[in-house]
This record gives sequence, C-alpha cells and structure tokens, in this order.
Amino acid sequence: MATNTPDIRIPDDLKPADGRFGSGPSKVRPEQLEAVMEASPEVMGTSHRQGPVKFVVASLRNGLAELLQLPDGYEVILGNGGTHACWDGLVAGFIEQRSLHASFGEFSSKFAKGVAAAPFLDDPVLVEAEVGTHPTVSHVDGIDTYALTHNETSTGVMAPVTRPSQDGLVVVDATSAAGGLRVDIAECDVYYFSPQKSLASDGGLWLAAVSPAAIERIEARAAAGDRWIPPFVDLKAALDNARKDQTLNTPALATLIMADAQVQWFCHNGGLAFSAGRSDASAAHLYGWADAHALATPFVTDPAMRSSVVGTIDFDDSVDAAAVAAVLRANGIVDTEPYRKLGRNQLRIAMFPAIDPDDVLALTGCIDHVLAELT
Ligand SMILES: *Cc1c(COP(=O)(O)O)cnc(C)c1O
Repeated sequence: MATNTPDIRIPDDLKPADGRFGSGPSKVRPEQLEAVMEASPEVMGTSHRQGPVKFVVASLRNGLAELLQLPDGYEVILGNGGTHACWDGLVAGFIEQRSLHASFGEFSSKFAKGVAAAPFLDDPVLVEAEVGTHPTVSHVDGIDTYALTHNETSTGVMAPVTRPSQDGLVVVDATSAAGGLRVDIAECDVYYFSPQKSLASDGGLWLAAVSPAAIERIEARAAAGDRWIPPFVDLKAALDNARKDQTLNTPALATLIMADAQVQWFCHNGGLAFSAGRSDASAAHLYGWADAHALATPFVTDPAMRSSVVGTIDFDDSVDAAAVAAVLRANGIVDTEPYRKLGRNQLRIAMFPAIDPDDVLALTGCIDHVLAELT
C-alpha cells in the first residue's frame, strides 16, 4: 500500500457485503469453499485417477456443456497450466501455418506474440485497434486459424464472437468471459478459458469447448508429426484424457470442485441468462453511474464495446485514482487498481457473476464518499 494513503474511513453501512472486485483471481463465493469442505474426505486428498475425482471432472464438463449450450459434437477438454498453457498448445498443435489475431490489449497481443515467436509458423496477421476499442475481423486468404478475444480483461472491452470467414477455424480467448458473457458457441471452434475469472474458482487450469472440426484439427496435427509438441501442452493428450474425465497430470482438486460448484449454481438458476444477467445488472449500474458523474467516465467510449464483466472507469485529472484505490484497499475493498501496463488514471472493477450487483452499487457509493473526502 502507498505510504501516503489518505486516512479516510468509509462508514460500514456504505460498504459492500464483499469487498473483492479483482479481475482474477476473483471473488470466490463462500458456498464454493463449503463445497471444498464437503468434498473432504471423499474427494479432497484422493487420487485423480479414481471415481470420486473423475466424477467432479465429469460434472464440470457436463455442466459447462449445459451452460454454454454446446451444439452436437462439441466437447469440453481441459488441462493444467491455465490459459497460458492452452496458448502454447494452440501454437504447437493447432495452428497449421498462419493465424490471424484480433489484437486490442495485453492478452490478445500476448497470444499473437507467442505465435510470432514460433519458428515453424508463418508470421501472424494482426488486426489491431486502439486500446479501449476492438477491431473488426473479416476473411483474409491463407488463414487457417482466426484468434478472437471475447473479453479483453486489460481494457474492459468485449468483442462479438462471430465467424470472420467460412474458411479457417476460430479460436476464442474467453478466459474472463466464459460464464459471464452470452455466446453462440456455433460461431467458434475453440472457446477456451480459465476458472479464476467468471467461474470464481482458482487459477492453474484451462478448459475449452471444442467443435468437431477442432477435434479433427487436433488429431490431424498430432498425427502429422512434423513438429515437436511438448507433452504438457499436447491438445491431443488433453482430449484423450478429458474423454476419461482426467487430466494429463495432477490437477488442483479444490480448483475443480470450486469451478464445478459455480457452474452448477449457474445451471440451477437458469444458465447463462442468469449468470450473464447478474453481470449485466452490475454493468448497467456502473456505467450509468460513471456516465452521470462529474469526475468519472467510462474508459470505453462505445457503449456496445463496454464489457459487462470488467469495467474500466477513468477519472478526471483532479482526482488521483491510485489514491482512491489505496483508500478503498485500506477499507477492505480490494483489487480496483487498473491493469498495470495500461497506465491510466483509472479504476478497474470486476463484475463477474459471483459479484453481487448490490455490491457494485455499494462500491460506487464508497467511491463517491472517498471522492468527497479527497476533494
Ligand atoms: C487472465 C487472462 C489470461 C491469462 O490467464 P491464465 O490462466 O493466468 O494463463 C489470458 N487471457 C485473458 C483474456 C485473461 O483475462
């Protein structure tokens, strides 16, 4: 914490019930931690090659298939190492020769950089846009893989998931989107994500909904044998293991249990309409508040591009947003700091489905209180 944090106490009756607004790791609901306790001793601390853990993996895979309304033939696969490992898996064992990337922030550009560094692939085509917006991607000759990002967590921009072309397969980084944003999965072939964002679990795992065409691609790339695929990121191994409700190597069982508990919560309450609806309610409030505010304004100017799971709010030069974040932190309201490399006078506020819309309402009340005390 900054040593010069202004000494401002936020009254308890203004505070949100839960003060976690981080964009990942993000708020874990107490019910999910209870699910971990309930899984002891039958699941926690037992073999991931035996029935009890495999049952959790099966429940998570089936729950995601229901939540995302997977079309016929789509499957859920998973592996260790988070989205970064999935990226390496796509580089090593999915892209055939040349990919195209919608690049509009830290995460989308990072995947493109990883592709550019692979000696066996052609240089990727980048379709870029100013931070705070997203580009529009359309057909380009010679592209076998189109890489989109559903929610650019670094800037708070959401982008549509639609096929740019009838040729080539579409892979979508939905790390922070999955479960929080509506999607038509038929519009893509690989919808991949991590559980520490909209699924309110912990990090270290990646999951992906894959189409029949993607499965064919994964199998063909593995069979081609024209390049070395590191076993840890081998998508064919992930596919084969997932079909047995397993992972290549030992997964974090608590992460699986908490992710499953969240997905079941979504499904029992109406699926994506429920979970994305919670994020929508939070976003309607946050952006409405910022739009009407004399000192705050949504960083993303186009309302259609404003993410309903991660909100970025710029502040007037007369306000030190870092000081606001520090005061909030000192009062138990944490992780509202902006993405480190974006370098703006900004707060970034997660509105994942686990976060109660009423708590976002309370948060803006707390920010107003801090602003009034500071100015
Ligand atoms: C968090 C995030 C990542 C990185 O996820 P890890 O699981 O930490 O590898 C990638 N892309 C997006 C859009 C993210 O929000």
